[in-house]
Formats: sequence, structure tokens, C-alpha cells
Amino acid sequence: SKFNAQSSVSFFDPIMQEQVNKVVELENDLRHALDQKQLQLYFQPQYDQNRSITGCEALIRWVHPTKGLISPAEFIPLAESSDLILLIGDFVISTACQKLAAWQAEAFTANWTLAINISARQFQCKDFVERVMQHLSDAQAPANRLKLELTESLLIDYTDEAVAKMSQLKKVGVHFSLDDFGTGFSSLSYLKKLPFDQIKVDKAFIHDLINNHSDEAIIRSVLAMGKAFDMNVIAEGVETEQQLQKLKELGCYFYQGFYFSKPMSDQQLFSWIDQLSA
Ligand code: C2E
Ligand code: CA
Ligand code: CA
Ligand code: CA
Repeated sequence: SKFNAQSSVSFFDPIMQEQVNKVVELENDLRHALDQKQLQLYFQPQYDQNRSITGCEALIRWVHPTKGLISPAEFIPLAESSDLILLIGDFVISTACQKLAAWQAEAFTANWTLAINISARQFQCKDFVERVMQHLSDAQAPANRLKLELTESLLIDYTDEAVAKMSQLKKVGVHFSLDDFGTGFSSLSYLKKLPFDQIKVDKAFIHDLINNHSDEAIIRSVLAMGKAFDMNVIAEGVETEQQLQKLKELGCYFYQGFYFSKPMSDQQLFSWIDQLSA
């Protein structure tokens, strides 16, 4: 028969079963992580061409009681497969709004923007706009300092509704950045419709920028697109002085990456700012 014993045996592969168990365990742990305050936002600064800080991107971290620090690359996709992502998403927005309100009160940080990552399921919620508005007003945070990072995959097949939601939030001053640009299916006509303020070039194109001419060509065309649509362009994953110089030469004037600083905890950010502003 076509359905030989081999294939049904592999379904009960003990290694695969172990992986499934691990995922189930992680998902259970994640449900408790929020209540037990194991989730935290880290902050990675963003810079302009004068090396002034323009703001930060908030990146979530899970400090697991026994497994240590777990990367969002591992647990966000897991959370996205259930409604957990909505709880996590709310936590991120509310924490970010509180942070923005606190930054307002300090001269050094008063003009900073805070970018947060929004996942598809979260954005596609009927009440997404209301939720963001509610968190902004609860924290009395300045809406025009909040930036939402969306990915292309989130917007495809959903353009009209996405435009409507973005427009409502833009009315109160919220900014939008198109994350991971270049890795998806972006077409000019589609980008034209969406009211982004910023395009974020994916770090994959920065990594080999110095040696790879096609990466350079891609960045050139993203910069041209940014100009045409009046969107600023930020490069993520900047790790070396050489990459920074090259980006400047190409006309890219906003940066984020390990070359400048790693994502930091609230405490680290705090003492780092103290040093900078001293
Ligand atoms: P992303 O939004 O593309 O975030 C950029 C990732 O690049 C972050 O990884 C950041 O730590 C890392 N990075 C920053 N500078 C450099 C650099 O110079 N070189 C290299 N190689 N990497 C750099 P992280 O923090 O592990 O986050 C991974 C992904 O998890 C994010 O990718 C984002 O898609 C997702 N994520 C993180 N926080 C959240 C969140 O609060 N909500 C949602 N929905 N997703 C999140
Ligand atoms: Ca991002
Ligand atoms: Ca990105
Ligand atoms: Ca990414």
C-alpha cells in the first residue's frame, strides 16, 4: 500500500514527540509568565546622522524562572498561534505608553519616540484602534511619540482595513514604520496606499552591505522609494563603523544596531541615560 508502515511510524517519532511536548510546556509557562511578571520590555536606541538618539525600539524579553532568558523569536510565534498574543500585545502597548509618559517628564528623553512591534493577529483585532487609544489615555502618554512597527505580511490581503486603522491612529499623531522591509512581497503600488512614516530596512541587507553589491542596490532603491513616498528610512542591524559610513554615503540617515547599543533593560537604560546626560 501507499501508506506503508514507515510513514505512520515516523508520526510517533520520539524526537518529534519530545519537541511537541516542549512546545506545549512552553505555551503553558507563557500563560503564567504575564501574571508572574516574567515578561519585560528591553529598549534599543535609534540614532540620526549626528549620532543623536531619536528614540528606542521596545523588544520583549521573557525571563523564565528555570530556563533563563528566552528569545522573542522563540515565544512570539508560539504566542501568535493562540490568543496569548493579544494579552502580550496589550502588555507591550500599556508598558510602552507608561514608559513614554515617564520619558516626557525628563528633558533628555522628552523628544524620544518609542517603537513597538505589532503582530498580525493583534492588528487585525476589531478593537485594535480603541485599545491603543485607551492605553495612551490611561497612561497620559503623548500619542505623537508612539510608533507602531508593522510587517508587510500583516498587511497583504488586508490593505483597505489596514489603511483605515492606520489613518485613525495617525489622526491622533501615532506614527507607523514598515518593519523587515525587503523580506516580503512589497510592491510599489501597495506601499503607495499605506500611510507609513518610515521604512525599516531589514538587517539581512545590512549584514553584507560592504561586500555585496546587490544589497547596496536594494538599499539604494529603498531610499529612492522613501524619497518618492516621503517616508524616512532607518537601517536596523548596523554592527560596524564601515556599515554606518556606507549607509551615510548612500543617503540613509537613521540607524539602529549593536554598533551603537544593544537592547537594554529598563534599569540599564536608566543608568546609561544618567551617564549620557551627566
Ligand atoms: P525585529 O522587530 O526585526 O527586531 C530586531 C531584532 O534584531 C531584535 O531581536 C534585536 O535585538 C536584533 N538586533 C538589534 N540590533 C542588532 C544588530 O546590530 N545585529 C543583529 N544581528 N541583531 C540585532 P529580538 O529582540 O530577539 O527580537 C526578535 C523578533 O521578535 C523581532 O524582530 C520581532 O519580530 C519580535 N518581537 C520582539 N519584541 C516583540 C514584541 O514586543 N511584540 C511582537 N509582536 N514581536 C516582538
Ligand atoms: Ca521591529
Ligand atoms: Ca526588523
Ligand atoms: Ca525581523
